[in-house]
Amino acid sequence: MYEVRRKELVKQLYEKGIKDTKILKAFYEVERHKFVQPTFQHLAYEDNPLPIMCGQTISQPYTVAYMTQLLNIKEGEKILEIGTGSGYQAAILAKLGARVFTIERILDLQIEAQKKFDELALKILCKFGDGTLGWEEYAPFDGIIVTAAAPKIPNSLLIQLTIGGRLIIPVGDSNYQIMTKVIRIDENRYEQYSYDTFKFVPLIGKEAWEK
Ligand code: SAM
Repeated sequence: MYEVRRKELVKQLYEKGIKDTKILKAFYEVERHKFVQPTFQHLAYEDNPLPIMCGQTISQPYTVAYMTQLLNIKEGEKILEIGTGSGYQAAILAKLGARVFTIERILDLQIEAQKKFDELALKILCKFGDGTLGWEEYAPFDGIIVTAAAPKIPNSLLIQLTIGGRLIIPVGDSNYQIMTKVIRIDENRYEQYSYDTFKFVPLIGKEAWEK
């Protein structure tokens, strides 16, 4: 279903600068309409964010692709996502061969995402909790991707990166955030790079915005 529209979306992503063929293939294979509410399914292949339950959003496909491209994952890498939301970003990462761990702070969303992963036979480990603290039990991670707006870079996430690990996180105020990539160079050294601006819903937690 929606195959033609999915192809058109992939073409748009390519024209906007997503050139990695593996990422484009993942966007063709993951059925975004299955991650949105039935009333929005006909809009699932527009390059726009859409509302999901609990006042949250499924990110714009271009944003998901942009962050995935920055993450630059290799098959089999361990990736932690903060902000499961609909589960779509996690599904894209899983399609790319990553071992995906994802954390969501709203219980209803976490439960729905877990159901979706089971339904689609996606092997993604998902938990309810405050993702700003990372997931110590499974650390370190080759990549961490934060899909909500952070006021600063959470230290707990930095220390849960492998040497060479990458953290992709939008950092800023409530109006806009700068997409940021941090690479762990060695035990105590990190390099930080800034990219384009985006607008996300807030990251709420101990090492982010307070409730
Ligand atoms: N990645 C999602 C997707 O593919 O649908 C989109 C995520 S939505 C833009 C941001 C999500 O981050 C929301 O579901 C929100 O509840 C969640 N969130 C905010 N703060 C969080 C935290 N501290 N830990 C885990 N999830 C958090």
